[in-house]
Amino acid sequence: MGSSGPGIPSQAAGAGAVLADGSSPNGAGAAPEPATADPPSLAERVAADGVRFILATFVDLNGKPCAKLVPAEAVGMLATDGVGFAGYAAGALGQQPSDPDLMAMPDPASYTSLSFLRPGLAMVHCDPFVEGEPWPFAPRVILRAVLGQLAARGLTAQVGAEAEYFLVRRDDAGRLAVADERDRSARPCYDARDLTRMYEHLTEVSAAINGLGWSNYATDHEDGNGQFEQNFTHATPLTTADRLVAFRYLVQVLAEQRGMTATFMPKPFTDRTGTGLHMHMSLWRDGEPLFPDPADPRGLGLSATAYGFIAGLLDHAPALLAVVAPTVNSYKRTTASAPASGATWAPSTATYGGNDRTHMIRVPDGDRIEVRACDGSANPYLAMAALLTAGLDGIDRGLDPGERGAAGRPLPPTLLHAVDGLAADERISGCLDGAATPAHQVAEYYRAVKREEFLTWHAQVSDWETDRYLTAF
Ligand code: GLU
Ligand code: MG
Repeated sequence: MGSSGPGIPSQAAGAGAVLADGSSPNGAGAAPEPATADPPSLAERVAADGVRFILATFVDLNGKPCAKLVPAEAVGMLATDGVGFAGYAAGALGQQPSDPDLMAMPDPASYTSLSFLRPGLAMVHCDPFVEGEPWPFAPRVILRAVLGQLAARGLTAQVGAEAEYFLVRRDDAGRLAVADERDRSARPCYDARDLTRMYEHLTEVSAAINGLGWSNYATDHEDGNGQFEQNFTHATPLTTADRLVAFRYLVQVLAEQRGMTATFMPKPFTDRTGTGLHMHMSLWRDGEPLFPDPADPRGLGLSATAYGFIAGLLDHAPALLAVVAPTVNSYKRTTASAPASGATWAPSTATYGGNDRTHMIRVPDGDRIEVRACDGSANPYLAMAALLTAGLDGIDRGLDPGERGAAGRPLPPTLLHAVDGLAADERISGCLDGAATPAHQVAEYYRAVKREEFLTWHAQVSDWETDRYLTAF
């Protein structure tokens, strides 16, 4: 509820805060940051900060953060040669045990000090290469390919993401429980007392990300017991995706230090609100925003370009879900009936509306759109790549989303349906294949990984089944 929470009118309660310059912080609506002329090298940053160890980091297709700890003494080698990994061991990256090393090449612009976790620790996000070529299965490489297509058209994008998560623990019986056992009310959203009991953890995260210059502008208790959201300002897609990877990591480490587990899984509790990763997006050309149009006859303040973008997202929704809601658990969030709090706040159909959180796409302001289909398990690089591809396709085909609130198709009810949707969608599959070669078909591999994930879950006999069937016949 970063950009404004459910049931709270945008500016009234300090939600949807507007910065002093009048821009909306998470909204991806303010002007993109100017490019730095001559950025410092990784070695310069490491020396300036007195860094002792660098986490050279990348994620697999599932978003698992993989890293090697490189001592500052080896920063020169890291910058020139990268650092090697057995890609098959790292995760879903299209590699076999017999394959050559995956070399993680650091992107100095993504340097992130983690001195608040350990003195002298830093992170740098890396682009994986194999035998000198960018590895087509690497999410950062896939997003870069889409951003290249944008740039070729003279476009840039801004993305702000609302990162929600639960703080949980295991109870004495080993069951999953909310970390704060007093956080039990039926309507916990924005509860000042539940928020204050997690003050030390939440403010430590806030101070940490503010120290990084991410500009945390709000932290709140979300709609589920034990659920929180910490917002930081929008940036370019690559920067926001890198920050999300670092954010999940640092939140999990800090929570662990307090004996808790921070989870971004979409639906940890059947009877509570799920975890979204709402993406606020806008397109720009020559520093000018392309989404606002005060003369919009539909009254949302949007341009024809923005409507085309929205229509593309709605049109590709059956395939997009396989990327922005990529786990078995994701569909427990989007198909849920209302939890104890009264509403799920998660979409179940491909629709758009104004400042209305019941739709897959909300238009909180004329300067941006918010995609609410993304959940906490989304790989941020892939999600942004797929969403930008879908939106651009809508613009290219001159699609129109119709009137706001118009009925839309149901979203896929399970991961398997979504994977079938992806298989039927050449444009979104093509986006995953953005850096593919004839020998390395990424979309096909991704669908196989996700199909296998669904069938592995499906093969488990659950409590629900024994409760339902044991004596039913
Ligand atoms: N947690 C809700 C979700 O799963 C969103 C609540 C909100 O609007 O912030 O998407
Ligand atoms: Mg929220």
